[in-house]
Amino acid sequence: LKPGSARLYEMLYDAYGSQHWWPAADRFEIMAGALLVQRTAWRNAESALTALRDRELLSPEQLAVADTRQIESSIRSAGFFRSKARRLQGLAGFIVGAGGIERLDAKPTPELRQLLLALDGVGEETASAILLYAFDRPVVVIDAYLRRLIQRLSAAGKPPPDDAIAAWVVAEIDDVPRLNELHALVVEHGKQVCAKLPRCRHCAVRDVCRWGYATP
Ligand code: SF4
Repeated sequence: LKPGSARLYEMLYDAYGSQHWWPAADRFEIMAGALLVQRTAWRNAESALTALRDRELLSPEQLAVADTRQIESSIRSAGFFRSKARRLQGLAGFIVGAGGIERLDAKPTPELRQLLLALDGVGEETASAILLYAFDRPVVVIDAYLRRLIQRLSAAGKPPPDDAIAAWVVAEIDDVPRLNELHALVVEHGKQVCAKLPRCRHCAVRDVCRWGYATP
């Protein structure tokens, strides 16, 4: 797994600049957005968040007691609206039951991760995004874009295990601002250049990529 993640970060940052993630300002909106964006584009999740906000449903207290059909009709733009409505209410109920987001701030990261993972619809990637963007915890968001990029950088036959990827990243980047930016940069790079069919000739990190280096 070479080069170090700090160098990769710098090269991606130089190429794409700051991505200004996460676009939502409110911490509960960040969490709701992390559920709504699953299996859809951000613009669709954003429309759903706007509709929830317009109907005064975008707080844990309001969502937890709202009529489920009203939530469903508000978030249709995000797709899978029935399961997402159920999951949003589960998240809202969890936060209300915990005494609010601020009470959860006191929990150590491993414990908070386990609590999040116990919620319907929250897997490792979503839990990491919530920990990083809503709770300012220094965690690596490991998604398909990062796995593919790391696999190609190291010319491995398959992506390394997630814990090896996380260890490689945090060996050099362990602060929240750069972990925040790195995730956004990797997504941008994965969409624009290191896509399923990589555009290596246009790649800002080709010099340090064993896959790209071997590509004419
Ligand atoms: S050189 Fe090609 S394979 Fe390597 S990171 Fe760039 S686009 Fe991906």
